[in-house]
Amino acid sequence: MVNVMETREDRPRIVVVGGGFGGLAAVKELKGVDADITLIDRRNHHLFQPLLYQVATTSLGPSEIAWPIRQLVHKRQEVTTLLGAVTGVDTAHSVVHLGDGTEVPFDYLVLGTGAQHAYFGHDDWEPYAPGLKTLEDATAMRRRLLLAFEKAELESDTDARKALLTFAIIGGGATGVELAGAIVELAHITLRDDFRHIQPEEARVVLIEAGPRVLANFKPEMSAYAEKALRELGVEVALGKAVTAVHAGAIEYGGGTLNAGTIIWAAGVLASPAAKWLGVEADRAGRIKVNPDLSVPGFSNIFAIGDTVAVSIGGKPVPGIGDAAKQGGKHAAKVIKARLHGDATAMPFHYKHLGDIATIGRSRALIDFGWIKLTGWVGWWTWGFAHIYFLIGMKNRIFIALNWLWIYLTGYRSARLITQDMPTSASPADAPAPAGTADTRPPNSKAAALRA
Ligand SMILES: Cc1cc2nc3c(=O)[nH]c(=O)nc-3n(C[C@H](O)[C@H](O)[C@H](O)COP(=O)(O)OP(=O)(O)OC[C@H]3O[C@@H](n4cnc5c(N)ncnc54)[C@H](O)[C@@H]3O)c2cc1C
Repeated sequence: MVNVMETREDRPRIVVVGGGFGGLAAVKELKGVDADITLIDRRNHHLFQPLLYQVATTSLGPSEIAWPIRQLVHKRQEVTTLLGAVTGVDTAHSVVHLGDGTEVPFDYLVLGTGAQHAYFGHDDWEPYAPGLKTLEDATAMRRRLLLAFEKAELESDTDARKALLTFAIIGGGATGVELAGAIVELAHITLRDDFRHIQPEEARVVLIEAGPRVLANFKPEMSAYAEKALRELGVEVALGKAVTAVHAGAIEYGGGTLNAGTIIWAAGVLASPAAKWLGVEADRAGRIKVNPDLSVPGFSNIFAIGDTVAVSIGGKPVPGIGDAAKQGGKHAAKVIKARLHGDATAMPFHYKHLGDIATIGRSRALIDFGWIKLTGWVGWWTWGFAHIYFLIGMKNRIFIALNWLWIYLTGYRSARLITQDMPTSASPADAPAPAGTADTRPPNSKAAALRA
């Protein structure tokens, strides 16, 4: 049986799909509008993606960077929150379809369904080189990183141990750079004294970028600073080298092979399938080519925002970043409000770029606001304050500020938990060490069990 969402018939129905940066900004801007608003997301939480890498690298826990969407809008009686995955849009009947068969009718629709990883036609690489997009990705990555050290502690073969302590990151954009800095500090500082058979500070972190510089969207001098800062921290930076193959535990690039127990993908994104749902034109990254007012060509009542659209202003593409999504969501809501008031004036989207920021480890960052550029620890503190400002809720702000201060002073990262798919108590990995072997390097059978 199809479940059709009931709404008051005398009020316009606005459906917003995606409780990310763009969708939430749209719902916020629609406050006070005499309409029924339905906010749909396939997850029950809004996620602050810029700090995902800190969950993956043990600085923060998941609940510090994510908030239940339902709670974020609970005071807005006109907003109904639905947990459901959109699978299609019937544009002829103005209905959104959810995976469970539910139909949600709309008068106005805003699609802010974001993006996912793109492997440039090599989807088979994904299991060996997972990316970072969701909380599940982050906790799985944290598990892989920590297990690499645990397995290395149990490994007696030198080459296998070296491979386990090699971390390769593919993609030198902000995510790759931030991950590389955090992983090298995790190994060289946080875990330094925790093991008896390995020296975590011998871990290799290799950042591989196909282009000629890291942080390609920054100015060249900032990229050069980032590269130098990474190298000083101990990251090996390989530039101008495209990865040609990824296998379990090894990657090929620049004509050679690197054995790496942990491989991370930070190289590309593909828009959500929103263009397919609507049957409209998309660019190579699957992004809808929207009209200047962010409406979808052919549909004056459907808008698309954030990472799921391609929009250029004055010939310059609007970047796929959080603030662009927020500005887009706000703009789409303003257009809808105008239309509801009978105002059909053209309202082109104007994007204001506030700046580029990225961090490298716990004491260096790059800030380029155009009118001012900051690096080093001044940049790092500015980066920290900027992120704390954008977080939701005083508790999280205070907690994260104190946590960062603690990491800054001591190097200690508290969220070092391996939480998924641990070997069971019946497995050899958890069995007590054979008599007489407690102080020696354990047999390879244990390592093999953990390697599974
Ligand atoms: C690791 C990482 C680091 C980043 N760092 C930065 C940074 O430092 N600064 C910055 O500005 N930007 C950063 N970004 C980019 C920024 O997070 C995105 O540009 C921004 O989140 C885009 O907002 P959005 O609203 O378009 O999509 P999202 O915020 O991704 O939200 C999309 C929402 O749609 C939901 N959704 C998707 N498909 C469906 C479906 N079929 N049905 C229902 N719901 C669906 C998702 O669950 C999600 O809640 C980073 C991104 C990542 C992944």
